[in-house]
Amino acid sequence: MHLNRLIAIIAISVFAFACKEDNSAEENYKKEIAEQVEEEKILEFGFDLKQFEFKRDTVKKGDTFGIILERNNIGYPEIFQIVEKAKDTFDIATKLQVGKPYTLLFSKEETNDSVKKPTTFIYQQNLEDYVVIDFKDSIQAYKSKKPITYVERTATGVIENNISETLEKKGLSQMLAFKMADDIYAWTIDFRRLQPGDRFKVIYTDKYINDSIYAGVHNVKAAYFEHNGDSLYAFQFQTDSIKGIVDYFNEDAKNLRRAFLKMPVKFGRLSSRYNLKRRIAYYGYKIRPHKGTDFAAPVGTPIMATANGTVIESTRRGGNGKYVKIRHNDTYTTQYLHMSRQAVKKGQFVKQGDIIGYVGMTGNTGGPHVCYRFWKNGKQVDPFKQKLPEAKPISDSLKTKYLEHIKPIKQRLDNIFFLEGEPKEMENTITEDQTTDIQ
Ligand SMILES: [Zn+2]
Repeated sequence: MHLNRLIAIIAISVFAFACKEDNSAEENYKKEIAEQVEEEKILEFGFDLKQFEFKRDTVKKGDTFGIILERNNIGYPEIFQIVEKAKDTFDIATKLQVGKPYTLLFSKEETNDSVKKPTTFIYQQNLEDYVVIDFKDSIQAYKSKKPITYVERTATGVIENNISETLEKKGLSQMLAFKMADDIYAWTIDFRRLQPGDRFKVIYTDKYINDSIYAGVHNVKAAYFEHNGDSLYAFQFQTDSIKGIVDYFNEDAKNLRRAFLKMPVKFGRLSSRYNLKRRIAYYGYKIRPHKGTDFAAPVGTPIMATANGTVIESTRRGGNGKYVKIRHNDTYTTQYLHMSRQAVKKGQFVKQGDIIGYVGMTGNTGGPHVCYRFWKNGKQVDPFKQKLPEAKPISDSLKTKYLEHIKPIKQRLDNIFFLEGEPKEMENTITEDQTTDIQ
């Protein structure tokens, strides 16, 4: 029962009592409160737990559904029957996981049995999903979900050292950093090179289970990031409702995603850039141009295709060691050297982000790294100096709709102000001692 409602009821009842000054009002008042208290329920898993005695526990090591029920006075022939009937919905005999919570419901009705037997077993697969196995009269099994609510929020932050620290200081979820770094700005901002004074605003939704359990950031609707003197807007927009394709676009409807990933490894260190004038001690400081870009990473680190394309080579040759070469279109081809092993074959179609091999030390290399080579029109170029093509531009027919859609959202973003310690005048200036705001 809602507390507000209860207070309202009390207030109305007291008021009525004060006016009429007769005993029936007081009686009514008492009756009403009694009814309210009676109405109070503990609703969970679609049951009013007040109607039951219940026992909550977690699956312990060595527990099986049979052992748990046996401990609660249900015998084996019946357990087999329950498992068999429930099997199509959930294989309760094999799928219970240690540490997961379960609830047993017992009837409150008096029975002739001297021992209490449960009537229902509820197993929680995660915070949201649960399985009900009901064996009160007939055996029934079904899956269900706890009610989910989404709460829209806004947040701002100024970078002092890194985004994680900024989020932590403000009590915001780290998931905001992952969403911004991996989904939204992966192609436009290098989050490891954020500058003090870089700042952001974000409109996002938090997810709650049963109105009370926080289940993390569900979605980022729009974001704004000031980095290196650039103002980068991002608005989420569904471009294909049938395939459910959702992308982020800027205020001019340009896709923030690029046709190419910045690097072929997720957590790699750029160890040697494309450099036509490189001199190496080993070769007597003679110029040995380096036409690739090296990313150092431990042996076995997955290497990803930086764009969609077809594998045209997957082989081992001389100094290259084991490598994969992908043709993306008439203009672009990429190559990934020194793999410990390849994960794709010649002729195979790969998508951006697919694992095509693993970091190794095959061929001429001093340490584990992937040498990433980038061809444009048959010439090796520096991928970091390329203006890489936009992933999928928004279609002309959708563009008008998109611009209409983002208008109020952009207005909202623009009206979120940075708080104390995030002064507007600081725009584009980098200071060492910038203080964080308190929200
Ligand atoms: Zn290299």
